[in-house]
Amino acid sequence: MADVLILGGTAEARAAAAALVDAGLEVISSLAGRVSAPRLPVGDVRVGGFGGPDGLRQFLQDNAIQVALDATHPFAARITGNAVSASAEAEVPYLRLARPAWSAEPGDRWTRVPDIDAAAAAVADRGGRVLLTTGRQDVAAFAGVTGAWFLVRVVETPDSELPSRHEMLRSRGPYSLDGELSLIDRHGIDLVVTKNSGGALTSAKLAAAAKRGLEVIMVDRPAEPAGIDRAATVEDAVQRVRSLL
Ligand code: NAP
Repeated sequence: MADVLILGGTAEARAAAAALVDAGLEVISSLAGRVSAPRLPVGDVRVGGFGGPDGLRQFLQDNAIQVALDATHPFAARITGNAVSASAEAEVPYLRLARPAWSAEPGDRWTRVPDIDAAAAAVADRGGRVLLTTGRQDVAAFAGVTGAWFLVRVVETPDSELPSRHEMLRSRGPYSLDGELSLIDRHGIDLVVTKNSGGALTSAKLAAAAKRGLEVIMVDRPAEPAGIDRAATVEDAVQRVRSLL
């Protein structure tokens, strides 16, 4: 039994869990179980898929959840779709907490693409030495790009097919501007590929790319269901969750 289910896997989800537990609420955080040593939020934690929207609806009902706070990553579109429909069916209020997307600043050289396959096609057009920061699950899309060399930066090594010419760099943010500049210089990077995840923890690569005059292939966020309740900050989400209880 819990007051709030937080669908997590992000820094915002951990911050929301800390604030809600601090406010005396019973919180269960849910993680997909993709990484072997995730950063754990405070409060109760469960790990693994629910078995689709029906499983999630059942979980909401079995645990008498009062509010579903979806703080999953902006690119985790499937769980968000499932959470919207499961919450509606279980008649549990749903709130989406997603950090604002990055927007291009003067001096940025962004090429926006609609999805990861379009990013791979853009890299195939250009070639060169690529800093690939799209995350472990998306590396396979670049496996067929033979005309480029990739510095593949991931939290955990992908088990999928990899580009034939690459170096694997395992690391987890946050990243600093100086660190990103030195990475770019050390590896002779001339193209950066990223999803538009937003947030301050990993944005230094964008400032570093602008400083070195590099093009950034920016994958736009997938669309989310229309008409859902949203919060852009952890503070706003926490306040609204409390007002729903
Ligand atoms: P996804 O494609 O939207 O979800 C695929 C399936 O994974 C869902 O249908 C669900 O399985 C399960 N799932 C996803 N998030 C879950 C959660 N928080 N708790 C329980 N089950 C979850 O998700 P994804 O893009 O693979 O991302 C997986 C997790 O990693 C998310 O929690 C997300 O916040 C985090 N993350 C994703 C990215 C990214 O770029 N996609 C980046 C950083 C962190 P069932 O249908 O069986 O319930």
